[in-house]
Amino acid sequence: MKLRDQGNPGAKRLRRDSRAGRRRNRPSSNTQWESGMRPLATPKQNSDGAPRSVDPSSPGFGSPTSPMEVLTGIAVSSGIAIGPVVVLDQKGLILPSRPTGSFDLDTEIARLERSLEAARAEANQAETEARTRIGPQYADILMAHASIISDPTLRMEARERIEKQLIPAEHAIHEVLESYVSRLESLTDPHLAARAADVRDIRDRILSQLLGEETRPSTSDLKEPSLIFAHDLAPSEAATLDPRMVPGFATEVGGGSSHTAIVAAALEIPAVVGLGRFLDRARRCRMAIIDGDEGLVILDPDLQTQQRYRRAAHERSARFDLLARQSDLPAVTPDGTRIELLGNIEFPAEVEACLNRGASGVGLYRTEFLFLNAKTPPTEDEQYTAYAAVVESMQGRPVIIRTLDLGADKLSLFQESGYTEANPALGLRSLRLSLRDPDLFRTQLRAILRAGARGDVRIMFPLVSTLGELRQAKAQLDDVIAELKSQGLPIREKTPVGIMVEVPAAALMADHLAKEVDFFSIGTNDLIQYTLAVDRTNETVADLYCAVDPSVLRLITHVIHAADSRGIEVSVCGTMGGDPLYTLLLMGLGIRSLSMPPHQLPEIKRVIRGISMETARSIAQEALNMDSPQAIIALLQETLRKALPETASPTSSLAPGQT
Ligand code: PEP
Ligand code: MG
Repeated sequence: MKLRDQGNPGAKRLRRDSRAGRRRNRPSSNTQWESGMRPLATPKQNSDGAPRSVDPSSPGFGSPTSPMEVLTGIAVSSGIAIGPVVVLDQKGLILPSRPTGSFDLDTEIARLERSLEAARAEANQAETEARTRIGPQYADILMAHASIISDPTLRMEARERIEKQLIPAEHAIHEVLESYVSRLESLTDPHLAARAADVRDIRDRILSQLLGEETRPSTSDLKEPSLIFAHDLAPSEAATLDPRMVPGFATEVGGGSSHTAIVAAALEIPAVVGLGRFLDRARRCRMAIIDGDEGLVILDPDLQTQQRYRRAAHERSARFDLLARQSDLPAVTPDGTRIELLGNIEFPAEVEACLNRGASGVGLYRTEFLFLNAKTPPTEDEQYTAYAAVVESMQGRPVIIRTLDLGADKLSLFQESGYTEANPALGLRSLRLSLRDPDLFRTQLRAILRAGARGDVRIMFPLVSTLGELRQAKAQLDDVIAELKSQGLPIREKTPVGIMVEVPAAALMADHLAKEVDFFSIGTNDLIQYTLAVDRTNETVADLYCAVDPSVLRLITHVIHAADSRGIEVSVCGTMGGDPLYTLLLMGLGIRSLSMPPHQLPEIKRVIRGISMETARSIAQEALNMDSPQAIIALLQETLRKALPETASPTSSLAPGQT
């Protein structure tokens, strides 16, 4: 089942305490977690008739059911999702969820036998090849693999699990071999402990047979809507998720403003990242809840918890409907200051969400998502088609198209064969890459400029670090404009050019940069990362990633002043711009334009309409005088709680740790 954007038991609280990888037994004070724990069902006896099958959904099924477990990670995309679970193995093998429909024992046992036989044959063949091509040492290892696979004990133990627990063959094999691994890893003899890796190899060999997959399969193979649990998901993988089939996902690693998180928000898929190791436990689970507001994953929730979440989801849905009906109201403070609200998009289809939620334009079009899953870069015409579709749908409203921001965590397929950088966030990323590859860059500029003939297109360069880079980019742009004109192709008379301010060097040089561009857009995701030297994708330092660190606020203030003194527009398009906790602070600092994932627009508008500019200014002044991010957060929470007690804060990933 799918419950998205609907309800959050904790939405009314402005929690700021999500930390990577924490595990806890009690999710909230109003739930009797321990006393509520009980198996969802008990085992059902097999009938005598053939085929032997049971219905796991009937009362009494489910042996042995694990107790409910609550894991805490980083909330990155709001909403609640409830459903069966599919675990994407780190090596790319996908285990299907445990059955919730009828279960055919004979079929599973036959599958087990076939897979063992095929895996043994495969290991034997690999051994023969290795003996001639590589040498006896490696061949002997493969021979040992083949003999472990044909060991009757392995067969018997896996079979017993299928029969007793009514689980698919792949789960049985996984569990048996994982138990061998644990035993080996606990041995003090390092030679024997190292054999654990061999057992894992064997496990994967058999699982590959059972799953019929050699590589990580696409989630488009899912048979029913399922929550995806994975060690990690690349932004390009997340971009292919179909929200109808993947109502939520959770990962062991990842940070709050990673691009995977951004894609989840764009697709409106509730998501939690940075949970730490939990996949082994998740594999044994029959269903789960992902709470994308509180950053919780609840494995095998008890009935009381399920009901509570379903109720909350329903309430949330009603609240969203109500806010959506107000999308035509102006984003004006009670004392008359208008704030421009724009949408961030990654895919052309998101334009509809922007329009439905009252965006007055697109403030950030992350074009690199067109490139991520492409084996070769999209042609000029392919890009033009995508950009023109967005521009036309926005019907004259401004559309800020950002040139490619590939690199770091966003690698396209055609880049993958290239050499890997030791430190990609500081490497050949974004505008640097575009400048290094003029064909790629100019093709994109041509497509954007041509789309500009169809509406209010503005061009934005990402990750500008120096004036020199900006000048090089503008020179290329001028050249392309001249080229298009000489070819008689229609383009906009004067296309506004802006930059993302997301590198501290650019923020510090904002007064100079402001003389050479038409607008600034502050990319807080990267600005925070580079100012505080905290990797935005790394859950182990997520507690150090902080939007309101005084250093970050000083840089933002500096950029706003530079823009104001040159009379150019400045907006915020990072995740901070869509978090209601920071709205009044940004307004008070002088921001009059915010760009965010479209689903955040109604909530942010509610804050704007509920808090006077006078209050925003005085709170911002107070915050600027503080030296502790925790104190700033407390001040913002308190102000928001008093003015708008109902406000839900979508992310808990931009706040400082409670150290
Ligand atoms: C940012 O860095 O804040 C930003 C909006 O760009 P991206 O998240 O795509 O890096
Ligand atoms: Mg950025």
